Amino acid sequence: MIHGVYIHVPFCREKCDYCSFDSAPVGALGSSVREGLFSRYLSAVKGEIASRVEHHGLPVDTVYFGGGTPSFAGADFISEALDELRRHFILEADAEISLECNPRDLSPGFLKEIRRAGVNRVTAGVQAFDAGLRQKIGRRAGPGADGTLEAFMEAPDFIHGLDIIVGIPGAGDGEILREMEAVAGLRPEHVSAYMLSIEEGTPLAKRMVLDDNSLDDQRRHFSFVIDFLVSRGYRHYEISNFCLPGKESRHNLKYWTYGPYLGFGVRAHSFAGGRRFYNGQSLEEYLAGPVLREDVRTSNGAMAEFIMTALRLIDGFTAGAFHSAFCEAIPIAVRHRFNELEARGMVAIEYLEGDIRFRLTREGLFFADSVIYTALEPLL
Ligand code: SF4
Repeated sequence: MIHGVYIHVPFCREKCDYCSFDSAPVGALGSSVREGLFSRYLSAVKGEIASRVEHHGLPVDTVYFGGGTPSFAGADFISEALDELRRHFILEADAEISLECNPRDLSPGFLKEIRRAGVNRVTAGVQAFDAGLRQKIGRRAGPGADGTLEAFMEAPDFIHGLDIIVGIPGAGDGEILREMEAVAGLRPEHVSAYMLSIEEGTPLAKRMVLDDNSLDDQRRHFSFVIDFLVSRGYRHYEISNFCLPGKESRHNLKYWTYGPYLGFGVRAHSFAGGRRFYNGQSLEEYLAGPVLREDVRTSNGAMAEFIMTALRLIDGFTAGAFHSAFCEAIPIAVRHRFNELEARGMVAIEYLEGDIRFRLTREGLFFADSVIYTALEPLL
């Protein structure tokens, strides 16, 4: 079976105020200390790749470097990690190899080096073009120096992606329109538009709450973003993801369609041979030696996972796909929940020839977490 590979790079220059990920801000370290840390981490990742002998020899058609800020670790890091993968796995000739980047790392030299290493898909974490919006949420990195993104878009042989955050409280309709025009002006093949969430324990949570008015604005602005991008030829294929025809993230589609993947790096998860593994160590523990644990699921837990991830796709999932994964029908209690959610306008149930499709409606997208919880409660 063809697998995806995820490689986690947990380092960032500085911590964004809204971030609840387990990422290490190391920008303030002296460059030799930082380079030493990157090099120790690379050795640990390579060691982990080399140690997973039970998976060696598997064909791999997607690789995704996520973080953190993988581009901050440098092109040599990416290149060496890919070489180690090629030593132990069969990396398909047309494999999609994706890298998350801080726009400030997107120099022509860096792009050339990562292309040489095999990267063919790059996402720039812009989050907001407007400095005032970035300041509100405590995001210090922006779209890079003048001309950086334009030059990135012209770099050949990549699929270019932009990440933006929608729903920053206080953003007016005019600001959202300007943000989207800036995106459309660059014409990336892929856009990820995430609704801002304020996570407990983050610095942002100490100074910002999403009251009912802000939540209404968020939903209105997100609806605007969907219509805007669709009108510009983008396909809305997952709650937060849009692409020009055929430019979906093949790697992320594996997560949403119950596909197998191997994760390497601190806190990375794997799903292979029907089993789930994860590395739950701290960074220091990981550097001392990665330890994998199995994440054992009940059959209800596995079914809930399938439905939860599949409903993120705009096309949802079919009863046939569920049956193929579990050799049984969708549990009747969940079917009843879907019928209730359909009556409330949150879910659409479509009868196809010989199959049934379940998907979120536009309204359901805005309340995805609670809709999915309601559907799955009988399995939890
Ligand atoms: S760059 Fe990304 S991972 Fe790093 S602190 Fe900011 S939001 Fe978190």
